[in-house]
Amino acid sequence: MASHIVGYPRMGPKRELKFALESFWDKKSSAEDLKKVAADLRSSIWKQMSGAGIKYIPSNTFSYYDQVLDTTSMLGAVPPRYNWTGGEIGYDTYFSMARGNASVPAMEMTKWFDTNYHFIVPELGPDVKFSYASHKAVDEFKEAKALGVDTVPVLIGPVSYLLLSKPAKGVEKTFSLLSLLPKIIPIYKEVISELKAAGASWIQFDEPTLVLDLDSQQLQAFTAAYADLESTLSGLNVLIETYFADLTPEAYKTLIGLKGVTAYGLDLVRGTQTTDLVKKDFPKGKYLFAGVVDGRNIWANDLASSLSTLQALEAVVGKDKLVVSTSCSLLHTAVDLVNETKLDDEIKSWLAFAAQKVVEVNALAKALAGQKDEAFFSSNAAAQASRKSSPRVTNAAVQKAADALKGSDHRRATNVSARLDAQQKKLNLPILPTTTIGSFPQTVELRRVRREFKANKISEDDYVKAIKEEIKKVVNLQEELDIDVLVHGEPEASILQRNDMVEYFGEQLSGFAFTVNGWVQSYGSRCVKPPIIYGDVSRPKAMTVFWSSTAQSMTKRPMKGMLTGPVTILNWSFVRNDQPRFETCYQIALAIKDEVEDLEKAGINVIQIDEAALREGLPLRKSEHTFYLKWAVHSFRITNCGVKDTTQIHTHMCYSNFNDIIHSIIDMDADVITIENSRSDEKLLSVFREGVKYGAGIGPGVYDIHSPRIPSTEEIADRINKMLAVLETKILWVNPDCGLKTRKYEEVKPALNNMVAAAKQLRTKL
Ligand code: GLN
Ligand code: ZN
Repeated sequence: MASHIVGYPRMGPKRELKFALESFWDKKSSAEDLKKVAADLRSSIWKQMSGAGIKYIPSNTFSYYDQVLDTTSMLGAVPPRYNWTGGEIGYDTYFSMARGNASVPAMEMTKWFDTNYHFIVPELGPDVKFSYASHKAVDEFKEAKALGVDTVPVLIGPVSYLLLSKPAKGVEKTFSLLSLLPKIIPIYKEVISELKAAGASWIQFDEPTLVLDLDSQQLQAFTAAYADLESTLSGLNVLIETYFADLTPEAYKTLIGLKGVTAYGLDLVRGTQTTDLVKKDFPKGKYLFAGVVDGRNIWANDLASSLSTLQALEAVVGKDKLVVSTSCSLLHTAVDLVNETKLDDEIKSWLAFAAQKVVEVNALAKALAGQKDEAFFSSNAAAQASRKSSPRVTNAAVQKAADALKGSDHRRATNVSARLDAQQKKLNLPILPTTTIGSFPQTVELRRVRREFKANKISEDDYVKAIKEEIKKVVNLQEELDIDVLVHGEPEASILQRNDMVEYFGEQLSGFAFTVNGWVQSYGSRCVKPPIIYGDVSRPKAMTVFWSSTAQSMTKRPMKGMLTGPVTILNWSFVRNDQPRFETCYQIALAIKDEVEDLEKAGINVIQIDEAALREGLPLRKSEHTFYLKWAVHSFRITNCGVKDTTQIHTHMCYSNFNDIIHSIIDMDADVITIENSRSDEKLLSVFREGVKYGAGIGPGVYDIHSPRIPSTEEIADRINKMLAVLETKILWVNPDCGLKTRKYEEVKPALNNMVAAAKQLRTKL
């Protein structure tokens, strides 16, 4: 009977690591304090897994910041600007790479595959001198051993490490990262030898890049790397762990052909074709670590169905060679359902967080071995059945409305140029119109009011009054600044960046549930708490109309309504797994459509529908992009296909990487698109020029709101001029990069003042 966990969340059930890290960074506690919190968390996780009966328990999946950065430390690949002088890498160097220090900025961070976890991107060039500079993997193995827990040390595999790196500055175009393989393998050998000496009998290499679209040279690198490691690995059982998607047949062939490898970890949740691959061809005598328990979601496993999958696989790989596992590290799910005090019992019975998934894995392994816990299986079956039949999940009217959407197009009747003409008659805006992206600074006072309202310390009336006052201030300020299209500042939406763009709407829609402690690490100490979409989505009543029309009543200028789009709500939530994602997205789209139409009826003529997360929902494999983009863009269009020509629809996206999806962005058919452009990228603008030839307005951010720096009028004018060199005058909008909620008024006032001044200056010259 064998069970395995790919990896476990580090943050702790109540984000203990987050608070310990932040207090250490603020110099409020010592390195010893931080070490103690970390060691306690590791110890409790190991004991919990061993107590649950897990056979293969991972170590070295803990991290103070990020597992890729840990690998960079292990290899001593510190970029020279951090002035590391050798020896074992300590907190100073480690956290400088992660977060920057007084004199050097942090290393770049990027998304880990298609998750919301972000890793620190290694920067490698021909001159890196690798050395074994962090013994963390061995130390953690020994630490667990001293606690009486025999673990499987986990390393990021050498090929995935290189494929996830970027070439150092200066050699971007010319350098082949894979050419470093012979230089890093010797370090891996040192680590492996030490692990062996410390008593390890298994080792796990995470090689998730095997699920990407790889060419033959990249696949060849896997073959070469493990052939080189073979002799060092001898005597160890070696697990190559893959996750997040199916392997292509070529990648699968490479995987099962690797030298010195005894076990393969496969994601059977996202990898929908993987079972077939295994059934067709599986090497005799090797282990299959079958990832049947979803590490990316919060749903209880359908144990009966997993058991039948496992039994079918057992017939292929052999009884003693099948290990039950999670689909990927549990890092991407919430930690422990036990701490959910506000969810009702019915919803709770449908869920499993990391701690519960560990139990599920073990229950499946026991059942395979003939020791099925009947009570556990039957309560699981009852929960699955209740989820299927619960009236809270199914809303026939919503299902019907969403079904009716299929196959149809949904576009506004008139083309964008005609619409913009109609809108201009109504709005009467100057050329280079100015606007902002939505939020204004979140003051201490505002936070206090919201906190007290949530805690029932002030009445709803007092709360509404305070928010109205805040809106009034923001409206007055924008009028003083002479901005053309105003916003209400989003004071009623909550405090944290992305949680709240979704939470604010989710809380008002049916089909959503919220956790108290369902945090998932996003990067470093930063966590997000995604809402759970458990049922058909509908909108019982208007969500933003009161605030937007209140704001509109305070000014004669156009007030922009502010909504989060369906794709972003979907991508930033835990989504139900009992229907395809696109169906859930269509349902959200219909709810937002109702809101858009109510805003229009209430006299709001400009409505922004943010799709900050459209791009991040792109599937890992290119072959799936077209399908995703089609339904994602369709969902967006559904929200606003019913408005009048004179209603102007804006959308906003917080990124500037559009080359590959520009046609989809255009196909959203928004009237105005505002985007990030903090790098002042002219290439981006020409992509847009090509794409936007058909005439939509475009507002590439004229200054970076992520920095406290106040840009001068000249600087902004210069940027607008550069844009004008590429884009037509009549389509250009002038706005900051993104919302202003993370900035202070001392920064925002002068920056916006300069922005408006720059626009006015240029208007006189055009
Ligand atoms: N309207 C939101 C804001 O201004 C947009 C935020 C975002 O795109 N992340 O805050
Ligand atoms: Zn943004």
